[in-house]
Amino acid sequence: MEKTEQKDKQYVWHPFTQMQEWVARPQKVIAAAAGIKLIDTEGNEFYDGVSSLWVNLHGHRKAAIDQAIIDQLGKVAHTTMLGLANIPAAELAKQLVDIAPAGLSKVFYSDDGSTAVEVALKMAFQYWQQQGKPGKQKFIALEQAYHGDTVGAVSVGGIDLFHRIFKPLLFTPAHIPTPSCYHCQLAADPATCKMQCATRLEQVLAEHHEEIAGLIIEPLVQAAAGMLMSPPGYLAKIREISRKYNILFIADEVATGFGRTGKMFACEHEGVAPDLLVLSKGITGGYMPLAATLTTDEIYNAFLGDYSDKKTFYHGHSYTGNPLACAAALANLKIFQEEKVLEGLAPKIAVTAAKLQKIASLDHVGDVRQCGLIIGIELMRDKNSKVSYSWEQAMGASVCLQARRHGLLIRPIGDVVVFMPPLASSVDELEQMLTIIESSIREIT
Ligand code: PLP
Repeated sequence: MEKTEQKDKQYVWHPFTQMQEWVARPQKVIAAAAGIKLIDTEGNEFYDGVSSLWVNLHGHRKAAIDQAIIDQLGKVAHTTMLGLANIPAAELAKQLVDIAPAGLSKVFYSDDGSTAVEVALKMAFQYWQQQGKPGKQKFIALEQAYHGDTVGAVSVGGIDLFHRIFKPLLFTPAHIPTPSCYHCQLAADPATCKMQCATRLEQVLAEHHEEIAGLIIEPLVQAAAGMLMSPPGYLAKIREISRKYNILFIADEVATGFGRTGKMFACEHEGVAPDLLVLSKGITGGYMPLAATLTTDEIYNAFLGDYSDKKTFYHGHSYTGNPLACAAALANLKIFQEEKVLEGLAPKIAVTAAKLQKIASLDHVGDVRQCGLIIGIELMRDKNSKVSYSWEQAMGASVCLQARRHGLLIRPIGDVVVFMPPLASSVDELEQMLTIIESSIREIT
């Protein structure tokens, strides 16, 4: 075993990982990267098919982002935002407001998706306290939601495997069904159901809206639930219902933001402007930890007053608005503009869709879901009667392991093979990666 691997196994505790299994098996150590490939300590190259956990957009070692960080290092690496401003954080806030859906005018920084969700929840809660509606304290979330791993974010999550053990620690939101036609929790027929899943929101709000502070949702794609995708019109419909009953609409675009869905933000697909928008992951092009919670003048203004009024938002972290991360984020946005990244996505999305059609016809592929360059391929033991593989078979993990043998790094969520390549992947590279996925499924299932 090489030295780094040994040290890792002796000292490091990995996220979402059963360490007993980790230490028992040989593991790869990544030493370098180039373009959309990662290179291990033995010189083997792998396509980064999950964008290093859904963060990387323009590839690794992108010269413009490397340089922006180096330039900022020559000025200042970090300074607090308590009592001080800094140049990249102020410039980035302006640019985020410029590209965000209408009405979002203020930016509150934090460090990752989970902490940005905490900011949104606490802001929404405090907003109503200061609006003379102290009864509005609860949240509504989707049943299989995932909003991160800090305690507030876990509270509004719904994935049993991750959250059950912590239940005694958490506050309890009202849940509405996950809007996924393939896994419809209401056993409805999509052709005739008139989106009963959205109607459920109206039913809850008609009775309880005086107690509800806000609704939090991952627009279009419930990512960690297994890339479950809502039917067209769902997002706009629940936005409209939320407005009607005067609750805040929190869009968690940690996974969907920054071009992943084919537009800068998923909300744009249905003309939705949220009250709070949560961003992270792709914000720095996948380089540094940074997150932002954007909100409206109306919410911001509710926090204004003298310190003695006790309306201040008492929340923040040591690295809030870190200049290096903000410089990377500014370089990321510049690349979007200069390289016309969004404009270049259409052929990549189309080629992916064509390849996926072929994968969908495989014997053990039950469903294939695509939104832009977010893809979930759901494996089924029996696709006609929708019988899943057993947990012990770990079929999703086996397919991903096989893909790794062929030079592609992907990760499963249960039996859903997740493919979320960097936006910079060329049409050719996308075809190669999807070919690897196809043969890995054929070989393993
Ligand atoms: N929200 C969504 C929709 C996510 O997909 C994730 C992470 O996958 C998070 C929040 C949490 O982000 P982080 O892992 O950066 O804390």
